[in-house]
Order: sequence, then structure tokens, then C-alpha cells
Amino acid sequence: MGGNEQKYISEAFNENWVAPLGPNVNGFEEDLEKFLGKEVKVAALSAGTAAIHLALIESGVEHGDEVICQSMTFSASANPIAYCGATPVFIDSEPETWNLCPKALREAIENRMLKGKKPKAIIVVHLYGMPAKMDEIVAIANEYGITLIEDAAEALGSFYKGQACGTFGRFGILSFNGNKIITTSGGGALVSHTKEDKDKIVFLSTQARDNAPHYQHSHIGFNYRMSNIVAGIGRGQMEVLKDRVEARRAMHDFYITLFRDIEGVEVFSEPDSDFYSNHWLSAIIVNPEITGKTREDLRLAFLEDDIESRPLWKPMHLQPVFSGAPYYGTNVSEKLFDNGLCLPSGSNLTDEERERIKNVINKFFKD
Ligand SMILES: *Cc1c(COP(=O)(O)O)cnc(C)c1O
Repeated sequence: MGGNEQKYISEAFNENWVAPLGPNVNGFEEDLEKFLGKEVKVAALSAGTAAIHLALIESGVEHGDEVICQSMTFSASANPIAYCGATPVFIDSEPETWNLCPKALREAIENRMLKGKKPKAIIVVHLYGMPAKMDEIVAIANEYGITLIEDAAEALGSFYKGQACGTFGRFGILSFNGNKIITTSGGGALVSHTKEDKDKIVFLSTQARDNAPHYQHSHIGFNYRMSNIVAGIGRGQMEVLKDRVEARRAMHDFYITLFRDIEGVEVFSEPDSDFYSNHWLSAIIVNPEITGKTREDLRLAFLEDDIESRPLWKPMHLQPVFSGAPYYGTNVSEKLFDNGLCLPSGSNLTDEERERIKNVINKFFKD
């Protein structure tokens, strides 16, 4: 926590705004809108997953439809496709940003259209905070007239060509889950570009009650709005977002220095200055042919010293729950999964902890 979260929560208690609406919800949305720029409209919700679900509904996704989704991601990017009764079509990564491969994306759209099914939406993810190749992806979405949804759950504070991640698509989604760069304990937001879209999202997220003195409903609603208490945490966290991004980026620099002289290990980094990652998680690719060791060997060496590291997200097209879903690509994401490892990346690591990490790595690659 940054320090001021408690102040906003106390205000909510003092004024008895203990509800899924109130000054903190409005204030948190304004803080996010100011940070993201581009005159976006933000609706604060109960989770990033809820935001993806509502984005799909607002994109017109219905039972039997197909939705394109980056395969290399956390399952929450794809699960809401199933909530809609739609089928995910998974797309491989390109090797530079590990995100949606524009070439495979085009191939998939063409092929699905040949089969008589034009995908209803495209979900692109900014993995570990790394912006996807948005120029190419936005151009393809526009060319085919398919709604673009940006899963920026891991990328608050990341920019592509100076524009904030989450503001490129018709919809962008953010997450404030406990593990994200800033947190409200649990929470999310849906970024849109018009007042109509935001109003509709708020309407659907608050049980879709029609304008009438009695309880009247002509849509299926959801209970997805953010609580005013939780939003108070968010307002406090927005005051320290820039510090958190700096701390994560400093961890990335730490690993760049650490691995500089270790051959066969590549630290996940921006391809060029168009990309600015918040480096939510630092990750590496271990080449076993050069190092003679696997990422699993390194994970176990860390574990021996009670340090947690994790394999990269396992691609969705390899997940049992999505077996049978179409997939387009050239197995880039499989190779990333086989050889990639997420390293300790927290904003609050101490010098002493960094020293322990350094010792494990130096010993592991020297032996
Ligand atoms: C965390 C995350 C989500 C889900 O957000 P919640 O707020 O936890 O529901 C979606 N997509 C990605 C890529 C995530 O990392």
C-alpha cells in the first residue's frame, strides 16, 4: 500500500458510502481517465474478468460465435468467451513482444471467413506489461471491421508510441487484483471511448434496471460494479502508480545487468523505443543448447533457496479445458512456455533479497 488508501476508506465509512457507488468510485474512475489520456471513459468493475465479459457482450458476442484470442495469456482472457457460449480461436505469439502475431491473426481471420464464420471480436493481451504490436493489430481489426478488445490487465503504466495500453481498442480492460502492479485487493475496469458505451457498461454491471419507479428489466444484468470501499484503495494506489512502475522497471534493469555476461539467457525486453513496458513481471528465456540447463533446472535451484519463480503462462491452446479450439500459428508460444521463466519482480524487494537472487543465478550458471 502507498499510505493514503486508508484515508479514502475512512471517508467512505464516515459518510456511510458503503455501497457499489459513491465518491471513491467516481474519483478512481477520474484518476484512471486522467492517467490514460485520450479522453477515455472508465467504468470501475468488480474484476478484470468481469470487464472482459461485458466487453464481449457489448461487442455483440452471442452463443455460437467465434472470438479470436491471444493464446499466450492467463486463462481469464479466454474464460469470458466461454461464458458467452462462444468459441475461442487461439492465435500464436510473435517472438519479439510474445503477444498476438499479426501474421497468424490475418491468416486466422481469412481462414475462419472461408469457413463461413467471421470472428466477432479480437482479444489482444499486453503480456507481463509488454505492449503488443498495436499498429499492425489495429490496422487488421479495422481492415476486417472486427471489434478490438485490449486485455491490459498486466499493463497499466505501459505505453506504445506514447499512447497508454488499454486505449487502442474499442474496449480496454484493466485489473486491480492482488498480484497486479497496483491493487484494490480485487477489482477491474472497462475502458471505452464514448459516454454511451460507459453508460451501457454501468447499466449492465448494476443489474440492468430500466428507468422506472418499480423494478423493471429488459436486459440480463450483472452484479459487476466496484464497491466504494475498494475504490478508495484504488485512489490511494493511483498516487503511487508511477513509483510502482519505476520499481518494476528497476527490477528489469537489475536482471539485464545480472545476465549481461551469461550466454544463452535472454531477458524479456522492449524491441525498440516505440515500446514502454511497466515490466510488471521480469522474465527470461533460457536456451538449453547454449547453457546446458533448462528453465526447470533454474526454477528448482531457486526453490532450494526458498525463492519462487514460475514458468510463463501456458498457452491456452495447450490447456485441457480448451482442447479442440482452433489454433493458428507456428508454435512460438510453445517454445516460450518450454524455455521461459518469470523471476521475482515485486516492487518491494529489498537489496538483501536481490543479493540472494543474484547469488543463486551466479552459482547456477557457473556450476
Ligand atoms: C489478472 C488478469 C486478468 C483478470 O483480471 P481479474 O481482475 O483477476 O479478474 C485477465 N487477463 C490477464 C492477462 C490477467 O493477467
